[in-house]
Amino acid sequence: MAYISTRGEAPALSFTEALLAGLAPDGGLYVPETMPSLSRKTLLGFAGAPYVDVAQAVISPFLDDTLPAGDFRKMLASAYATFRHKAVTPLAQIDDNLFVLELFHGPTLAFKDVAMQLLGRLMDRALKAHGQRATIVGATSGDTGAAAIEAFRGLEQVDVFILYPHGRVSDVQRRQMTTVDADNIHAIALEGTFDDAQAMLKSFFRDKSLREKLGLSGVNSINFARVAAQTVYYFTAAAVLGGPLRPVSFTVPTGNFGDILAGYMARQMGLPVERLIVATNSNDILARALDTGRYEVRGVHATQSPSMDIQVSSNFERLLFDALDRDPQAIRGLMARLDQSGAFDIPAGAMQKIRENFSAGAASEAETSAEIARTWRETETLLDPHTAVAVHVARKNLAKNPHVPMVALGTAHPAKFPDAVRAATGVSAPLPAHLADLFERAERFDVLPNDAKAVEAFISARARAVTLAANGG
Ligand SMILES: *Cc1c(COP(=O)(O)O)cnc(C)c1O
Repeated sequence: MAYISTRGEAPALSFTEALLAGLAPDGGLYVPETMPSLSRKTLLGFAGAPYVDVAQAVISPFLDDTLPAGDFRKMLASAYATFRHKAVTPLAQIDDNLFVLELFHGPTLAFKDVAMQLLGRLMDRALKAHGQRATIVGATSGDTGAAAIEAFRGLEQVDVFILYPHGRVSDVQRRQMTTVDADNIHAIALEGTFDDAQAMLKSFFRDKSLREKLGLSGVNSINFARVAAQTVYYFTAAAVLGGPLRPVSFTVPTGNFGDILAGYMARQMGLPVERLIVATNSNDILARALDTGRYEVRGVHATQSPSMDIQVSSNFERLLFDALDRDPQAIRGLMARLDQSGAFDIPAGAMQKIRENFSAGAASEAETSAEIARTWRETETLLDPHTAVAVHVARKNLAKNPHVPMVALGTAHPAKFPDAVRAATGVSAPLPAHLADLFERAERFDVLPNDAKAVEAFISARARAVTLAANGG
């Protein structure tokens, strides 16, 4: 399978090359040249199948033929053996025809583990095959950093530098990043905001000589391999609820649009999906865009669901690309307008296509807390605030179409956001056994000023990479 950039000014890459490159050099995002599809017979076979079997069937069409099926299967088996639930991503019912897809049984208690555990293994293998080292630099508001650190700890080919905003991530999130005792892991507390960290990261990736010197590689949600790994649980959830014989709807708590884009891809691949519903907190750029057709950046508000506190939603570009009939020039025009004026209008034809599949809704802070309290009262299930945003929006949409099963994606374990959960219910969610001693473990991190030169010097002094990760351009 070949991968092309949404901006049309970068050469096509193989899966492995796109995996190592992350962002395309023209600023675009890689997408498969054609979307594979799965036969109805294959989908029928997913009923009752183990997660790893479904994952192999769903992800394999995206890979290069240089990865033997047996090796890929072993990789999947070991990636998902790190999950503490035998079903990997089990489905829990919380109301009539309303379900929570629990994506948080991985090592860091957030859905990012589902993709990152596989990504780490895929990257390590690709780098070993080329005798190369890579330097992973990531900016995180919490969950991505922890998931990346957990997935890459101790790997020989990779050094990981994670920038997080000093004092602005939860204690659990920070400790998950700072208590990992591995020489290749570096947690950096940046004296700035998440947006500062993100901007710094982008400047590193734009600097060609630095990129090559360090073999810079990214693992943020624009990496296509992550999206591919996330399509799997849409298939497993639908299979439990009678798919493909009856359609299912999904409500997804959304930040960078990676998770819900995976649902869109599952639909493109042949899964009968009735509606895909974008759920946002008060950082509602996507809900507004779907409502009005205008994509407009506003300031970020801090909420109880920090992993969705975003200004722009990077992966939305992949959906726009399809909705604009894969016209890279049209994408370049819209993105240039976004850079210049912080907004663009989605052309009417594209908007119509998007609305065929997608709806959207937002939950305020009060609605999020009320939802945590309600679900606790009605089912004795604790929801984390991100999941609660989705459940709130899911209930509203389920009322419009009560006969189609509604799945809200449960993206974090309630113990990861204990303050919000306790405030809403008076109950504390205990950390699972493997993290029970998290608050006793020693922390290791460096505080660095909000200054790109200082951070660059820190990374250059510690990264072991000498050659560029093979990225074909
Ligand atoms: C990252 C994250 C999200 C948002 O996912 P996107 O793919 O960025 O839309 C939602 N909930 C939690 C807990 C997350 O960590």
